[in-house]
Formats: sequence, C-alpha cells, structure tokens
Amino acid sequence: MLRPCPYVRCFHRCLATSISSSSQVQAPLNFLSGKRCDPSENIGNFDLKYPATDETLRQVPSSGERDVNEAVSQAREGFRSWSKLSGFERGNVLKRAANIMRERLEELAQTEVLDTGKPIWEARCDVQGCADTVDYYGGLAARISGEFLPLSNGCFSYTVREPLGVVGGIGAWNYPLQMASWKSSPALACGNTFVFKPSPLTPLTAVMLGEVYKEAGLPDGCYNIIQGETKTGQLLTTHPNIAKMSFTGSVPTGSKIMEACAKDIKHVTLELGGKSPCIIFEDCNLENAVTGAMLANFLTQGQVCSNGTRVFVHKSIMGPFLAQLVERTKRMKIGDPYLEDTTVGATISKQQFDIVMRYIELAKKEGATVVCGGERVTVDPHLRGYFVSPCILVNCEDHMTVVREEVFGSVMSILTFDSEEEVIRRANDSELGLAGGIFTSNLQRAYRVASALEAGSLYINNYNVYPVGVPFGGYKKSGLGRENGPDTLDYYTQVKSVYVEMGDVEAPF
Ligand code: NAD
Repeated sequence: MLRPCPYVRCFHRCLATSISSSSQVQAPLNFLSGKRCDPSENIGNFDLKYPATDETLRQVPSSGERDVNEAVSQAREGFRSWSKLSGFERGNVLKRAANIMRERLEELAQTEVLDTGKPIWEARCDVQGCADTVDYYGGLAARISGEFLPLSNGCFSYTVREPLGVVGGIGAWNYPLQMASWKSSPALACGNTFVFKPSPLTPLTAVMLGEVYKEAGLPDGCYNIIQGETKTGQLLTTHPNIAKMSFTGSVPTGSKIMEACAKDIKHVTLELGGKSPCIIFEDCNLENAVTGAMLANFLTQGQVCSNGTRVFVHKSIMGPFLAQLVERTKRMKIGDPYLEDTTVGATISKQQFDIVMRYIELAKKEGATVVCGGERVTVDPHLRGYFVSPCILVNCEDHMTVVREEVFGSVMSILTFDSEEEVIRRANDSELGLAGGIFTSNLQRAYRVASALEAGSLYINNYNVYPVGVPFGGYKKSGLGRENGPDTLDYYTQVKSVYVEMGDVEAPF
C-alpha cells in the first residue's frame, strides 16, 4: 500500500517518487503466463511520463513479432481449458477479481493518476466502476446460454453461444484501467482469452489487472499484456490467430483496424471518437443544466470520448446560463492531481496540449470568443506538466472547426437555438454519434428529442454517468458494437445452431 507523505506541500513529489520507484513502474510491463516479463526482443522504447510533472519515469520496451506471437500462443493454450469451464466457474473468478480490485482500490487509483494526470477522486471513481464491471460480467457468466426451439414431428433445434477464441484489445489513454477491464471481463466471461495492448502513454494499470486476475484464480495465459506503439498494435491486429479485435481510440485508427481485420474476416468492436451535443432547453432546472454541461466537458481534463462539447442553449436563457456556468467554471481547482480538492489535473502530454491550444487559437480566428480559461496554468513550480484552465467559447457557429471536430480537451463551445426542430437537425449534423444530453423538465419533449438524436448513449437531465450494465457505444463513425451491458456478450460470442432429427430422413432421391 502506497502511503502519502504527511507534509502536504511535498505531497505530490513524495507520492510520485514513491510510486515511480515502486514495483508498478519499475517492474516489467508485459504480462504473459500469469506473470510480468520483459519482451524477448526490443523493437524500440517509449517514455513513460507522469503528466503532472512531465518527468520521464522510465523507458518501456516495445514488443515485436516474437512477443506478440508468444502472447497469442499463450492465449490459445489458455483457451483450451478456460473455454471448457462452466460460466458459473468463470464467473466466480471474475467476482473474486472484482473484490481484489476493491481491496487494492487506492493503489490502483494512485497508479492511474501517475499514468493519466487525472485528479485522484476521479481515478477512485474509475477503479470502483471497473470493479463493478468485472463483478457484473462475473454475475452474467453463468447465464450465457442458448435457446431450445421445438420443431415439427418432435424434432428440435438448439442454439449455443460459443466463445470466439483469442480476443485482441487495443486501448486509448484516457481511461486505461477501464479499457482493460471493459474489454477483458466480458471476453473472459464468455470463455475467450485475451491479449491487450494498452496505450503507450498509460501502460501501468492494465498489468496490475493481470496480477489481480491471477490472484483471483484466472489460469495462466488467459489474460496477457504486450506493450508497444503502432507497430505492436498492427502485429496484434493482423495476427492470424486473433479471432476478434476490440479497439478504443480515434476514428482514423479505428478505420485502419477495421480494414486490417477485414482481410481475415475478424470480428471487431470499435469505440471511437465523439462530438456530441448537449441541449439545454428553456424549461430546464438551470443549476442542474450548468452542472450537466460541466460534467459533459470538464472531467479528465476534457479528454472524454462521450463529452457533449457542442452545448446548445435556448436563446431565452443564454444570459443566466452563461453567467452561472462561467462563475462555477472559474472556481474549478486546477492543481496537483494527488490533492483531494483538485478538480482539474494535467493534460496527458505536450502533444495533446498543443492540439488543444491550436483548436482554441483557430476558434478565435474563426470568430469565437473565449469567455474564460483556455490558458496554460502553472500550479506549482514542481509541476511542469501541461495544465489548462477549462475553456468556454461563445459566438460559436456550426461550421467552425472547433464545433465540428473532436478536440479532446476542456473546450466547451456554446451555441444558441430557437426551436426544438432546429436544434435536433443541428445536433444530428455530424459524422459522429457517440452520445448526447437533453436538459428539460418536459417529459414528452425529453422522450421526443432522445428518439430523434442519432447517438448511442443519451442522458436526460444528467451527463457522463455510466452505471454498470448500461450498454455504451456509438452510432455512425463513433463505432461498432457495445461495451458494458448484457448486449456486449453478443459481441464476444458466436451462435451455433444444432438441428436434431427425431424421425427418418426424407428426401426426393
Ligand atoms: P489513437 O487512435 O491514436 O490510439 C489508440 C491506440 O491505438 C493506441 O494504443 C495506439 O498505440 C494504437 N494504434 C495506433 N495506430 C494503430 C494501428 N495502425 N494499428 C493498431 N493499433 C494502433 O487514440 P488515442 O489518442 O490514444 O485516444 C484518443 C481517441 O480515443 C479519441 O478520439 C477518443 O474519442 C477515443 N476514445 C473513444 C472511447 C469510446 O469508448 N468511444 C473511449 C476513449 C477514447
């Protein structure tokens, strides 16, 4: 258990140093055969940095063909026995893993902060949510079954949901433990085995999940981690013994993964980007709508795929809405991610910081006005990372680049509207369709608008809540398939139909 320094002023340094020198960072970060290991051949290194200080904690070796082959081969071996267990037996392992995650919650959360730079309270919520997901699929595993179909003359047919084989996963960097657990737990519940490549920016907690599974009794070879960048991801995606790829990341990469999977007709789940609308009607509860708009934009430094970054506000309430929003946004505490009262942590990297600042500059050039934030902030001389004050833009128009493209930073674009029909049309005018929010006290309107919006996850009078069991995924270019919910089991299984003849075979020959 990592213990924070009692002296608050040096808290972040002591804690970061304590974690960076801990086994989580310095130990090998591949996970094969139920234990950590280094790759047998190194096809390059990448830096592991703590976003808040921008310091390099270590270099991580990228895995090449030999190690990807080994990981897939271990997973094939693991599949032989794991797929033969009953759902109940598999579920028990997952449920034990969920409990271990809860016991190790603080350690997992502190390590997640080191990886991502997000505030510790958010990391704790993330870990709790991940444990719930693993628990949930543990509970569902025993219920994965087929159907019995009675046919004529006593004949019948039955269906069986069978696992696919070895599932490959590739993740983004904003919710590292969530990517690993949202993909591995349904895959394992269904009897598949799993090989995961985390984002090179956030390699740590997926390996800890491997240790958790091991402790819970998951047989060796069923959950494997290979670290690396694009090349490693390509090797995994194109491996002939991978039956399915489950990918979370950007639209361009998702498109490449789908193309690569097409060659071998592999199954694919894609969780991609978003540019979602958050619609504030004049009859909303204003305080809740402001809170909702902030939740829709400012969690995890704005680096959330489902964010409602196009905030459509009815013209009649723009004045009071904006006044309250700006006042509360300015009160957000930007600072050391390990401090309990911090609400804005560090942007993941300099590269992402540059992208965010470019979008803000371009927005200004195209006619938008910054009413607050959008600047680099120095919170402490020791924290040399890229902290950005949450940014609110007004005078936005639908054609502006910042309104059309995903920024993946704390940049909220405010747009005004007059009528319900108009706002639905404008909200749907996007190639993406991940999520959306509706704030109104009119139940009929809420239902009508939710039915009309082209998106996979909608929130009425709230935003960015992910209760376990609710499916999540995109429409249009935001993705294919679903995660987190019962529907996900369909994406990790294939249906076998068996016809049983009870009489003689009839034929015209
Ligand atoms: P990215 O697409 O750049 O990278 C994602 C992962 O793909 C990384 O692990 C990377 O190493 C790997 N990769 C890159 N090129 C590859 C290739 N050709 N073949 C195989 N693997 C490859 O995305 P990112 O910058 O890490 O994440 C940000 C994006 O992720 C945003 O667009 C965000 O909206 C999206 N995202 C979506 C969800 C969701 O659930 N819909 C969740 C989180 C993030």
